[in-house]
Amino acid sequence: MASNSKKVKLFIDGEFVESQATQYIPVTNPATQEVIAEVPCATQAEVEQAIASAKAAFKTWREVPVPERARVMMRYQALLKEHHDEIAEILALETGKTFDDAKGDVWRGIEVVEQAANIPALMMGETAENVARGIDTYSYIQPLGVCAGITPFNFPAMIPLWMFPMAIACGNTFILKPSEQDPLTPTRLVELFEQAGAPKGVLQVVHGGKEQVDILLKDKDVKALSFVGSVPVAEYIYRTGTEHLKRVQAFAGAKNHSVIMPDANKQTVINNLVGASVGAAGQRCMAISVAVFVGKSKEWIPELAEQLAKVQPGAWDNKDAAYGPLISPQAKQRVISLIEQGKKEGAECLVDGTNCVVEGYPDGNWVGPTFFSKVTPEMTIYQQEIFGPVLCAVEVETLEEAIALVNANPFGNGTSIFTANGAAARKYQHEIEVGQVGINIPIPVPLPFFSFTGWKNSFFGDLHAYGKQAIRFYTETKTITARWPESEIDNGPNMTIKLQ
Ligand code: NAD
Repeated sequence: MASNSKKVKLFIDGEFVESQATQYIPVTNPATQEVIAEVPCATQAEVEQAIASAKAAFKTWREVPVPERARVMMRYQALLKEHHDEIAEILALETGKTFDDAKGDVWRGIEVVEQAANIPALMMGETAENVARGIDTYSYIQPLGVCAGITPFNFPAMIPLWMFPMAIACGNTFILKPSEQDPLTPTRLVELFEQAGAPKGVLQVVHGGKEQVDILLKDKDVKALSFVGSVPVAEYIYRTGTEHLKRVQAFAGAKNHSVIMPDANKQTVINNLVGASVGAAGQRCMAISVAVFVGKSKEWIPELAEQLAKVQPGAWDNKDAAYGPLISPQAKQRVISLIEQGKKEGAECLVDGTNCVVEGYPDGNWVGPTFFSKVTPEMTIYQQEIFGPVLCAVEVETLEEAIALVNANPFGNGTSIFTANGAAARKYQHEIEVGQVGINIPIPVPLPFFSFTGWKNSFFGDLHAYGKQAIRFYTETKTITARWPESEIDNGPNMTIKLQ
């Protein structure tokens, strides 16, 4: 490990501090393997200090009027826009994403901050007058206290921004534990949040992995936990967090299918499938990894293969690069073994990205676009989330068969249908057991006034990310029933439930 590499700081009680950690994890540029920073595995005392500081800050932050909390978010979204390119550059360097894609990652997060700036209207409760004679009932929503978020590597701007702006706008304080693979982007996001005028202690950042997460999962002062990452970790977080009586939302992996009807526009289908399958090197939880060709649309498979074969990955600052490297050599190795497994199990590999070379970057974690046809549900490449630039084609004869295939899959994050037939689209949207459906749109990620609503094994919990569901996740409802009699009448104690 380079001795001069930059040590990433923790953010505790309003200060960026160097950790007392004995263990550091290298952060590398995935196109070169150069160590660009080292991230500490925070000590137990440091995580506990963050929790204590967040708990203390909650006492004053919950009293800050909601329009003032909104103004912090207004200043924050302006700062994020002002620094958009600079954040994207940091993000591109540590994730390998192309510059334009890195800007998209930041932008999707900015949109959530814009939504958080609308918090006054979102915090409104309900009222009913005269629920009994002279009695009114009304409800308020109030923040929970200390909330925490654990985020994955693949969207180091967007996913932290799904969480802390909404939680904090609701009046909570927040502890972020970003991915150890790309902590520099979240660090910059936090610096700008401080500049936006967030009071000391409202947001804290601790770094590390399982050990640090376990402290957050078990500490009684952490009231709610948001997680995004892989399926086994999501299950663990959900089980452990709820066992410790916390509110938990855990977003997990995916296997997203796109159904191609023969009446769809061929060129639209091909363009959309290429971008949605190998864009961001397939490292998106909403990537299309299975294309289901219905009837005659299978005739487009050779043309799709030709288009995919033309796609070239490259370094983040190469304007011609379609996507970047995988996040780590381990991730690359895993994807390559799955591709080999696909070949062994009898899928036909029409485009093989295993020997991908990018000139000038011999050490990058490159995997070229890979396309399998004749894939069946029994194959490992169909069953596992590959999280690489790999598309699997499955062929069926009818829309009903396509729906049955998608519904039999244990994941339910996103899906899409390409068709010119409104009735087919309507049937698909109604019958499909997936939480986010695109009609002639490959990756239907909802904007922040809706919520991100994965289903089945793609999500454990009930209230989803951002939008109105996030407000409910990060708040508690208090219902008040009030009587203000004009004069007191003494009828003695009331011993029964009164009928109206
Ligand atoms: P990951 O599960 O390896 O890590 C996610 C976070 O959990 C990191 O902060 C990591 O430090 C922490 N972590 C890892 N192991 C842990 C353990 N044993 N106990 C506690 N915490 C632990 O995920 P990743 O590789 O960073 O991200 C990719 C995965 O995230 C993919 O499966 C992808 O589909 C999923 N993802 C899902 C969504 C969604 O909205 N459903 C969005 C983005 C990514």
